[in-house]
Amino acid sequence: MKAAVFKGKGSLAIEEMPAPVAGPGKVVIRVTYCGICGSDVRLFSEGFFPTGLVIGHEFCGTIHEIGPTVEGWSVGDRVTVMPSVKCGECRFCQSGEWHHCVDLKFLGVNEGMPGAFAEYVTTNASMLHHLPDEVTDEEAANIEPCAVSLRAVNRSGIRVGDSVVIFGAGSIGLFVLQIARLAGASTIYVVEPAPSRSQAASILGADEVFDPSSTNIPGEIANLTGGGADVAFMCSAAPSVLQQAVDTVKCQGKVIVVGAGLSANVIPEFWMWKEIEVKGSFAYLDEFPLALDLFKQGKIKVEGMISDVIPLEKVQQALQDLAQPTSQIKVLVQPNQKPGL
Ligand SMILES: [Zn+2]
Ligand SMILES: [Zn+2]
Repeated sequence: MKAAVFKGKGSLAIEEMPAPVAGPGKVVIRVTYCGICGSDVRLFSEGFFPTGLVIGHEFCGTIHEIGPTVEGWSVGDRVTVMPSVKCGECRFCQSGEWHHCVDLKFLGVNEGMPGAFAEYVTTNASMLHHLPDEVTDEEAANIEPCAVSLRAVNRSGIRVGDSVVIFGAGSIGLFVLQIARLAGASTIYVVEPAPSRSQAASILGADEVFDPSSTNIPGEIANLTGGGADVAFMCSAAPSVLQQAVDTVKCQGKVIVVGAGLSANVIPEFWMWKEIEVKGSFAYLDEFPLALDLFKQGKIKVEGMISDVIPLEKVQQALQDLAQPTSQIKVLVQPNQKPGL
């Protein structure tokens, strides 16, 4: 089979390799789509992945082969995979907060766990989730990032009637937008400079989208909300956004950091004066099956979010392009698509 193999900082190669075989407790999946995640882009350019690893962790496909001792699954079943693996023994696993597991590993990220920028991938059967007919393949490849956004909204404690500002309308921001609405936010403003992303935010229900290069965001939001928003979400890694968010929320408002790669020069004294809560949100726990269920119910959409579908041969170029300011939103890799078709 063909797979995209990490070769060192900023470089990968499409290689021909033996297709995986389903060992005990495992299945082999024929990959339909694998999305490119913001963390793939960053870890690729920083050289974090182990050399020789097949990367890619946001995927769906059909079961191709079933290993010994696996029960309850059939060849041809449509599935997605929660790509994180925990040790099951550390204090965080024991207390149910296993996303903080001291040995947490992700398929397509960590040593010995080849991912899904490949025609086939193998996983533990325990990591599978059945895809109901109502969930399309495009949606299924987005369950993982949607689960990240779902956790961020839950951690924000949004209440009915709250006003929300979302910085960044990449896929995480666009899912936060939809979930914040489900959670009861009454007004949702999105801050996004790229026209294609702001258009997607409008399609998916933003009350208004502002271009930060031509709008004074804290001033505008203060006018619209009567003194500041209740909650701001950091779904952008732009260094200026954290201070802007602190300036944009009301006194005792909340700032939720969810996007990866955010670094910023901030003055924490403002947090003290305004009694602001700055809170992180990492990955997901039970949000993964919940995100799947929200797609099944039609409550979350990917309309306007899939900006490209590419073959494996274009993954390296896409990872490089996505590291620059971009109009792309979610790029899906279709490993079984033949190049040129
Ligand atoms: Zn991801
Ligand atoms: Zn653990």
